[in-house]
Amino acid sequence: MKTLPARTIARSRGVERLVRGQATSDGAGVRLTRVLAQPLQRRLDPFLMLDAFGSDAASDYIGGFPDHPHRGFETVTIMKAGRMRHGDSAGHSGLLEPGSVQWMTAGRGIVHSEMPEQEQGRMAGFQLWVNLAARDKMQPPAYRDVPGAQVPAFTLDDGTAVRVIAGRTHGVDGAVTRPTTEPLVLDITLPPGAGFDLPLPAGHNAFAYVYGGAPARVGGTEVGSETMAILANAPDADGVRLAAPEGGGAVQILLVAGAPLNEPIAQHGPFVMNTAQELRQAFADYQRGVLAA
Ligand code: MN
Repeated sequence: MKTLPARTIARSRGVERLVRGQATSDGAGVRLTRVLAQPLQRRLDPFLMLDAFGSDAASDYIGGFPDHPHRGFETVTIMKAGRMRHGDSAGHSGLLEPGSVQWMTAGRGIVHSEMPEQEQGRMAGFQLWVNLAARDKMQPPAYRDVPGAQVPAFTLDDGTAVRVIAGRTHGVDGAVTRPTTEPLVLDITLPPGAGFDLPLPAGHNAFAYVYGGAPARVGGTEVGSETMAILANAPDADGVRLAAPEGGGAVQILLVAGAPLNEPIAQHGPFVMNTAQELRQAFADYQRGVLAA
C-alpha cells in the first residue's frame, strides 16, 4: 500500500442529518440493517439503498439470497468477513471473500443468487445500490468481481488507511469507475487522533456511515457507531473533514458520494425504473421469463 501526503480542504461540509439504520430481513431470512431506505432515495440520488450486515450467528445469514431478479440499477457488495457465492443468469459466478468487492450492473435484467459459502463464523459487509440513468437502464447486464488484494488502497502519514472501491481520490483510481453517477466509495480507517480531509465536488450527494469504533467526527459533528451522517450540500464547501478522537479505538467509515441523476425514481422491490409503466413491464417480463433472457 502506498503512502501519500495528506491533502487539505478549505471548508468542510457539515452534517445535515443523522440516520440510524432499521433492523430488517431480506432474501431467505438474512438479518440486516437497512441504513439507506426508500424515503432517502431522492435526497441521496443516485444511491437507492445501503444495507449493512454483520453477525457471528449462522442462523442470521445461512438462508442467503436465493434466485431473485433485478432491473434498472447496479449493486455493489463489499465483503468485510465471511464468504458468499454469487451466480447469475448471464453466466457469471464468483466467490466473494473478505475484502473483495462485487460490482453488478443489472441493466435490463438479471436473475442471481448470493449464498453463504460457510456454515459458521462471522459474515459481515455492505450492499449499496446505485441507480442507472434512464438511458442506461436497459443496457446489457455486467459483472465484476474484485479480489481484496486488487482494491487500490493508500495510507497517509498519520496512519489513515483508505481503500478506493470506486471513483478517484488523492490521485488513486478505484477498483471501479463509472460514468454519469461518478460514484466515490471509500472504506476508511482512522487511527485514534487522526484526521482526513476528503475533497468532494460540491454538487455531489454524499454520506458517511460509521460502522466501527466511534464516535467519529464528521464535518465537526460527533457521529456514533452504526449511524449515517448525511452531508450538507454547501456550495462553498470543497470536501469533508473526518476525524477520530484521541484515546478511543480506530474508527471505520464507509464514505459514499455521487452525482445526482435528477430523474424520476420508480421502485418496486428489486426493480428501479423511472415510471410505473416501466415497473409493470419489468414484472411482466419477469413473469414471462424474458427479463434475463
Ligand atoms: Mn440481489
